[in-house]
Amino acid sequence: MTSQGVWDTKLRGILGGRTAGALERGLGLVTVRDLLRHYPRRYAERGELTAIAGLVDKDHVTVVADIASVTTRRMRQKKGSILEVLVTDGTDSLVITFFNQPWRERELRIGQRGLFAGTVSTYREQRQLAHPQYVMLDEASAESAAGFAGAIIPVYPSSKSVTTWQIQTSVGVVLDAFGVELASLDPLEPTIAEQAGVCDLRTALEGIHRPTTREQIQQAHHRLAFEEAFVLQTALVERRLIAQGHRAQPRIEEGSRLRQAFDAALPFALTDGQQQVGAQISADIARDIPMQRLLQGDVGSGKTVVAVRAMLDVVADGGQAVLLAPTEVLASQHAAGIRSLLGPLGQAGTLLEAAGPESVDGTQVVLLTGSARSRERREALEAIASGRAGLIVGTHALLEDTVEFADLGLVVIDEQHRFGVEQRAALARRAPDGTHPHVLVMTATPIPRTVAMTVFGDLDVSTLAEVPSGRADVATHVVDPTHQPTHVDRLWQRADEEIEAGHRVFFVCPRIDAQDPDDDSQSENPAAATVEDVLEEARRRLPRANIAALHGRMSGEEKDAVMTGLATGEVDLAVSTTVIEVGVDVPAATMMVVFDADRFGISQLHQLRGRIGRGSLPGVCLLVSSAQSGSPARERLDAVAATRDGFELARRDLEIRREGDVLGGSQSGVRSSLRLLRVVQDADVIIEARTRAESLLSEDPSLAEHPSLRAAIAALDNEQAEFLDKT
Ligand code: ADP
Ligand code: MG
Repeated sequence: MTSQGVWDTKLRGILGGRTAGALERGLGLVTVRDLLRHYPRRYAERGELTAIAGLVDKDHVTVVADIASVTTRRMRQKKGSILEVLVTDGTDSLVITFFNQPWRERELRIGQRGLFAGTVSTYREQRQLAHPQYVMLDEASAESAAGFAGAIIPVYPSSKSVTTWQIQTSVGVVLDAFGVELASLDPLEPTIAEQAGVCDLRTALEGIHRPTTREQIQQAHHRLAFEEAFVLQTALVERRLIAQGHRAQPRIEEGSRLRQAFDAALPFALTDGQQQVGAQISADIARDIPMQRLLQGDVGSGKTVVAVRAMLDVVADGGQAVLLAPTEVLASQHAAGIRSLLGPLGQAGTLLEAAGPESVDGTQVVLLTGSARSRERREALEAIASGRAGLIVGTHALLEDTVEFADLGLVVIDEQHRFGVEQRAALARRAPDGTHPHVLVMTATPIPRTVAMTVFGDLDVSTLAEVPSGRADVATHVVDPTHQPTHVDRLWQRADEEIEAGHRVFFVCPRIDAQDPDDDSQSENPAAATVEDVLEEARRRLPRANIAALHGRMSGEEKDAVMTGLATGEVDLAVSTTVIEVGVDVPAATMMVVFDADRFGISQLHQLRGRIGRGSLPGVCLLVSSAQSGSPARERLDAVAATRDGFELARRDLEIRREGDVLGGSQSGVRSSLRLLRVVQDADVIIEARTRAESLLSEDPSLAEHPSLRAAIAALDNEQAEFLDKT
């Protein structure tokens, strides 16, 4: 076995088959790497008991507590006995029950301290653990190789099939077996570790799994977090260097009449930010290495115009530009939007003719989505392959191998978080003669610098900080139907008034119908509002309005019809899911009501609200929720009601949100590989890792001298790919 092979050694060959099976079933831990990288969630101290008052029903917990009393009762109705053990943290108590296992009384003695692992429940107002697994601390050292000899007891994320002390024992076995070999597995070679002032891998793993002091844990934690940051940054910097090693076709736009004509025809003046970013992009695409740029800008900051201008530069240079949207609704809206922005310039076949006599063939704006009929599809593919289509808009259908481009010069990815690195790579192969297209990624989710560095570390970042002036106000209020029932009636009245005034209204619900899974169905909350129910109520309460549903289970054509209806005024009110979240542009929309708004996160609500107040008409956004005042859910809603500044909201969001969610569910596989590193709090670590990764790669671009780091990057890629497959 090569030294790196140790990581992939199956636990089955080292631990007993039963233990290995339980680790795999319960926690998905299969290899030495899996187990050694399964770090404790927290540490209990022998002298310190778990606060019982803080336990939450249905949670699987491990509790350190003292036995206060032990009683055995005969059960009256059924035959048998019940053993009740009262354990305490000195203040509160918890009842531990065993049915028909009287012999346990011998193991559980008053005054003893133990670890108890089970699922919390409440019975007659008494917290309890039924049939927990347990181990008495005084006896444990004899039983487990890891032992509870130290004063500090690691508490691992565990499951019903494996307890934290079984994990601890297994980790101990593996550390003892492979401790020496860890030296050659360390992704941070001694010089790197030394420069960064962190300890070696073996010391770190001993310190995180078998600490004897708090300092040891801290030191280990810091080193392992740095390692995560360093491996990730090295991967990203390397990816960036590889991209910069590719060739791209420079697209030089020398005062093209096409773009001048476009700018002149715009019904507004570009903001300073739009001009600046536009100049940056022009400079990027004039180079012979592919642009790799992220454009972040708040909802409504006008990213599309910036993208279209860049696309026109490429078209004027004879190339093709693609705009990729995450949904069909957005793609067709973008196509319609671009056609209307282009005005007379966009008449099929006349785009370049309008630009001047030197132009060759005309170009077209072509839309390609998954739901295109076969004839449309064939025509679109043909126009793309022949080069007649200059501006191509579509969904991921454009990524398929059957799509051939004549001269792909620029790829713009709107609302990137739904596209991964792989998709970007798929398009990168489509440019002619081994060149790569320029890539512009756009996101409306403002992210702090170190988060961007973690998720998009291979991209240059530009920011559109301002929203064009003259934008109408949107007043946002939280409506609590439990405490303010009259406000709900007022809400319907207001919707009626808006519709009477000729405006458009959006009602947003968390679910389509009762079959639609409810993220929150596990919790105490009643099931969230559905499009089906709200649609019915809307038809009853607003009999004069034209009302349509809009959600992800409708076909692309059906959705388009509703979008068009909203634009023309044939539809007054759309009852929808979050399909309208990104990018949907209906200037006459003035009112939005979000039902069970607490089911959505801050940035999602901000995106949703961005659908109204886009024209000159002021808007109103009502967040309907019974979330208790002071609860985190209500805090989120209040934050959204307090400001329309997306960057400010992103900051608030990070304050309120749990760290694990910062990277977003579908954003990328990055999250799966971060165990200890926290992208916001550990900003310093990330920045230091970035600098060190850059300097290392400048000395050793292929990492030939750093095989264990190379192996760690490969493992990271694997893990991220697996994560993306699963989601
Ligand atoms: P987003 O950044 O959310 O994608 P859009 O590009 O969709 O924003 O722009 C939002 C709206 O603002 C569109 O209707 C667009 O035509 C308009 N817009 C863009 N730039 C300006 C500007 N400089 N002045 C006024 N309106 C603008
Ligand atoms: Mg947009």
